[in-house]
Amino acid sequence: MKIINNIKELKEEIKNLKGSTGLVPTMGALHKGHESLIKRCVKENDNAIVSVFVNPIQFGINEDLDKYPRTPEDDYKLCSDNGVKIVFAPKVSEMYDDNKDDLTLICPPYSIVNILCGKSRVGHFDGVCSVVAKLFNLTKANRAYFGKKDAQQLFIIKKMVKDLNFDIEIVPCEIVRCEDNLALSSRNKYLTFDERKIALNISKSLFEACNLYKTKTATKRAIIDNSLKLMEKLDIEYIEFVDKTTFKLQDEINDNTLMLIAARTPETKTRLIDNMELCK
Ligand code: AMP
Repeated sequence: MKIINNIKELKEEIKNLKGSTGLVPTMGALHKGHESLIKRCVKENDNAIVSVFVNPIQFGINEDLDKYPRTPEDDYKLCSDNGVKIVFAPKVSEMYDDNKDDLTLICPPYSIVNILCGKSRVGHFDGVCSVVAKLFNLTKANRAYFGKKDAQQLFIIKKMVKDLNFDIEIVPCEIVRCEDNLALSSRNKYLTFDERKIALNISKSLFEACNLYKTKTATKRAIIDNSLKLMEKLDIEYIEFVDKTTFKLQDEINDNTLMLIAARTPETKTRLIDNMELCK
């Protein structure tokens, strides 16, 4: 496995690759959620590339850019153990030429960034799309793997690829959870012992919502009320329902509904997200 930090070397390496190439974009601190994407990428492509880059332009000024967990040695080992061919781990200056406040950006439309995570994280998806587009161009990957955990991100990337005619297939991957159903996230590292217990109520709300929906008598209001009760110790940012194909907010839930939650833990104020299709 090659660990490459600069663009020139990456381009040389890409030129010499034979067969299909898959890309898994990550911000590192890799866990079993990332690993599931990586395994699939290795299986479905001749060459698997993992990028490890904590992308500063997708963080807001008051967000956790500086304290975001960084575990490069463990990340490289996980990639190597799984048969990854190239890890691309550039410095910020390599990606943005010390020019990160003066960049050409890809900005998804207001209608899709002004809901859910984009509402509180202004500019976040511009940063995500811009770095992902750069990674697509640099790696010339045929496929890229994204987790359904970041459902809005996945929808926006698919839209970017379609709208801008990128020649790449986006492969959505299922959410990986701990045994107790907490969705795996690099940010789970921030949680205290007690907060982790409190955080379990996010996935519990989603699982219970699915069960309530299955009764066919539960309304959206009843599902929200149940979630509010379960998550009373969390600072809820949103509980929302979208149509999973259009990502439009729904007044009424139906078999196409994706329920999404974002909430902060009480002590460390860790922001956690999770989602689930009601009709599973
Ligand atoms: P990140 O490093 O958080 O930017 O995530 C990199 C990729 O891994 C994204 O496509 C995420 O959606 C995906 N991912 C993160 N956590 C999980 C998880 N628990 N299950 C599946 N995919 C995940």
